Amino acid sequence: MANLGNPQNTIAVLQKYQFNFQKKFGQNFLIDTHVLDKIIAAAQITKDDLVLEIGPGIGTMTQYLCEHAREVVAVEIDKNLIPILEDTLKEYDNVTVLNEDILKVDINQIAQEKNAGRPIKVVANLPYYITTPIIMGLFESHVPIDNITVMVQKEVADRMQVGPGTKDYGALSLAVQYYAKPYIVANVPPNCFMPRPKVGSAVIRLTRHKEVPVFVKDEKLMFRLIRASFNQRRKTLVNGLNNSPEIDVPKELIIEALKTMGLSATVRGETLTLEDFAKLANIISE
Ligand code: SAM
Repeated sequence: MANLGNPQNTIAVLQKYQFNFQKKFGQNFLIDTHVLDKIIAAAQITKDDLVLEIGPGIGTMTQYLCEHAREVVAVEIDKNLIPILEDTLKEYDNVTVLNEDILKVDINQIAQEKNAGRPIKVVANLPYYITTPIIMGLFESHVPIDNITVMVQKEVADRMQVGPGTKDYGALSLAVQYYAKPYIVANVPPNCFMPRPKVGSAVIRLTRHKEVPVFVKDEKLMFRLIRASFNQRRKTLVNGLNNSPEIDVPKELIIEALKTMGLSATVRGETLTLEDFAKLANIISE
């Protein structure tokens, strides 16, 4: 089968099957072999690996994954793409295509059955509106994962990677960095896709920490504090937490906790590091 990273080959497949792009599934297919090479290299895939691909489309990246991995499981929601995938992947005997919504798939079970519970690698070029729930779902459900290499909207990649004190820093940065080490692999302009998306994209690799980087007694409380302090960015941390329906802690206690940490009562949430939020949660939970 011809390399679908070549736009002519993608056009030929789309015409052969008279495929209609579905907006609701965020279908923008990659047509750039350099970007595909970069994704495969960044994901550090070897012949030992089981790779889960989310949203294979017509199988462009799947072909690359089949060449490099031991086994590939590709989950595609659009039933119209299934006969196309059967065709474009017919040369490979190490791929299973599931016609499912990834949000309803038991990924833990796949890792157990196909990889004996050892960490898997995830590669995806997702519709942008489900990127965050999928990534957070993968981390929070404690699926054994080595790394996730994913194409996201450029702004989202920036938000995942930045540290305190910048405008992009927020709850997503802290949630991602609690579970993984982010690394932006490449910026990808709209002309690398068919059809072209309206926004710029980036490939980001999230390498899961072997151990969480901070000590926190009550993870859920820490994430409630994080969400509450970024909900009202312009407010001080104390006022943000005080106004939040998610947090039921007296204002005086928050001020006292900040004092113990050597922070001023007028500090803003956006200046706190992950370690600061963990400490704050630990003091409050006591
Ligand atoms: N990986 C292909 C590529 O790079 O050319 C396709 C990428 S396209 C941006 C996103 C793909 O995800 C589409 O094929 C779409 O049908 C599929 N998709 C959308 N929502 C999904 C879901 N909830 N579960 C599984 N696949 C989904």
